Amino acid sequence: MNAEAESSTETTAPLVTAPARFPTARVILKPRKSKPFFGRHPWVLDSAIDRVEGEPVDGDAVELFSEKEKWIAHGVYNSRSRLRVRLYTWKPSEFLDQDFWRARIQQAIDLRASLGLIGSDQGTRLVFSEGDGLSGLIVDRYGDYLSIMVTGQAFAIRLPQVVEILVDSLRPRGVFVRTEKGVAQTEGISLADGLYSGVEPAGPIFITENGIRYGVDLRTGQKTGFYLDQRDNRAAVTRYLRGRRVLDMFCYSGGFALNALKHGGAREVLAIDGSERAIALAGANAQLNAIAGARFEKADGFECLSELVVTRQRFGAVILDPPKFARSRQSVADALRAYHRLNRLGVDVLEPGGILVTCSCSGHVTREDLLHMLGGVSQQTGRDIQVLEQRGAAPDHPVAASCLETEYLKCLICRVL
Ligand code: SAH
Repeated sequence: MNAEAESSTETTAPLVTAPARFPTARVILKPRKSKPFFGRHPWVLDSAIDRVEGEPVDGDAVELFSEKEKWIAHGVYNSRSRLRVRLYTWKPSEFLDQDFWRARIQQAIDLRASLGLIGSDQGTRLVFSEGDGLSGLIVDRYGDYLSIMVTGQAFAIRLPQVVEILVDSLRPRGVFVRTEKGVAQTEGISLADGLYSGVEPAGPIFITENGIRYGVDLRTGQKTGFYLDQRDNRAAVTRYLRGRRVLDMFCYSGGFALNALKHGGAREVLAIDGSERAIALAGANAQLNAIAGARFEKADGFECLSELVVTRQRFGAVILDPPKFARSRQSVADALRAYHRLNRLGVDVLEPGGILVTCSCSGHVTREDLLHMLGGVSQQTGRDIQVLEQRGAAPDHPVAASCLETEYLKCLICRVL
């Protein structure tokens, strides 16, 4: 159980007016713009819209029509975002009321329960936005606590209702809310980060993953506190590491490094992150599990790798899990150049036959883009790169077949000759 001692700062949810349950307006698309939405893609950009009939308030339910006024879907309107309408159901008879959201959220929770991911000390992504048909809502569970990341105004406005559903279903001790500055701005979300309901935990929450315990700080940790998406990749990588000297670049709270030592039989690990807080967290997690053999250091990833190349340090395995390089479709070319530079440096510090684990969490960079990038690195370095496994995020981050931007995490395990 988490949070042995708790202070009891009970909070109450602010009172808000519930948005309209029944469609208040008709959104009509421009000619030749409706195909993706018949194809169940949930993002209607303002540039695709011809006109809005009615006067929807932000957060209201609206209906989407083709230019020939053929009904397409029910969605939620937001005048402040380029992503003007988010779509949620393609069934005309389904309305976006509390029963609808309850069923949708429960359907997401049921998947995680069936995967055995809702144990008392587990960390799990309960709701993954478009991956669960809930564009704009992310809910992570850390033991008895929930952390909600609101990325769409549709759910900023519906937060009290969402929390009510989650509390009814899961009875958490506390519910935290997190927003990301950039996203909040583009969506017009003004929510305060912090405890939203329930009680404050006394310190970090502890979760167990692959038999390793981690402290998670729900208030100040990155994202919602932990990178849950890499759970299965951390385990998968261990089978390639026996006896090797490992470089864990962009280590955050030490997930790959600790798995490498505890389950992979790695000889030693050098783990690097640019954040002081991350390094402290990773060190504390190594201690918590009495895992020896890792050195955690604060440094810039690119500078550190260049230094390692120059000082002729070599590794048997290099793990590269950088932050998102491409924030938009326009920045993909720049991002691919950065991935190339990073992976080139990674290959340069790998001994022949070494293992390269390379990840990208940029939704706009495709798997194919990354494979081409690796081809370029192979050409430049004159070293063959064999892709052994092509992996994605753990199954509590489902990929929506109709919204491939949800396939944001790619993890390629390679051998470099
Ligand atoms: N591998 C981690 C997750 C990494 S997330 C895990 O398994 O949990 C990306 C990390 O990169 C973050 O911890 C962030 O602090 C770090 N980071 C961002 N920019 C960096 C830089 N220029 N140099 C080093 N680390 C950086």
